[in-house]
Amino acid sequence: MKNNGLTIAIDGPAAVGKSTMGKLIARELGFIYIDTGAIYRVITWKVLKNNINIKDENMISNLVSNTSITIERANCESLNDYYHIFVDGEDVTEEIRNPRIDQNVSQIARLSKIRKQLIHLQRKLAEKGNIVMEGRDIGSVILPQADIKFFFTASEKERIKRRYKELIDKGYSIDYEVVKKQIIQRDKIDSKRKYAPLIRAKDAILIDSTGKSIEEVKDKILKIINKFRECREKIN
Ligand code: C5P
Repeated sequence: MKNNGLTIAIDGPAAVGKSTMGKLIARELGFIYIDTGAIYRVITWKVLKNNINIKDENMISNLVSNTSITIERANCESLNDYYHIFVDGEDVTEEIRNPRIDQNVSQIARLSKIRKQLIHLQRKLAEKGNIVMEGRDIGSVILPQADIKFFFTASEKERIKRRYKELIDKGYSIDYEVVKKQIIQRDKIDSKRKYAPLIRAKDAILIDSTGKSIEEVKDKILKIINKFRECREKIN
């Protein structure tokens, strides 16, 4: 598991800015960026496509065993087109951002059998080191040995506003109250599930982005990472 690269874990609730920041940090450092939420979204997309009951753990587990997920770097200049994700060779990068996926994904992600199946894939993706991996259980379960762990937070109001704007900008016609309900519900299911809930690892650094600009947050995180690197170089 350990390698010479740097492993950065980012966890936090929905719409807290993990993806935006994760990509910016990875781009700045020349690291690989891995969005584990996209993996759960892909499974949800396939479950819905195959009309499988989202509570049928065995059927979903079977589907996961027969699913190939690959991630390819696309356009590093554009945060909106940073990577593409493929399921069984089909590019589903855009489709997995659909509000219908938002509505169902946490129900599937709470199933322990499915999570355990997906641990291997996530660890494999992280193997090379020099990565920024983001999700809900990265610092606690997937990469407990990560070099630096961040836990992101922001007020609920600000997170809902951000996600609503993102969906409207993408052309979805959705009600603010629906977005609000989905985010609150997702966070509740993600935090309360028995296995690998959304949690701040004991050694994770808290980053509160409420009222802060993207640049401010990015600078703060880069300072922490650079300090860590300096210390590590001195020790070695
Ligand atoms: O990060 P994103 O909002 O795209 O994640 C979608 C959903 O995937 C989350 O609400 C959560 O249910 C699930 N997820 C998870 N563990 C992760 C990443 C995402 O349970 N590491």
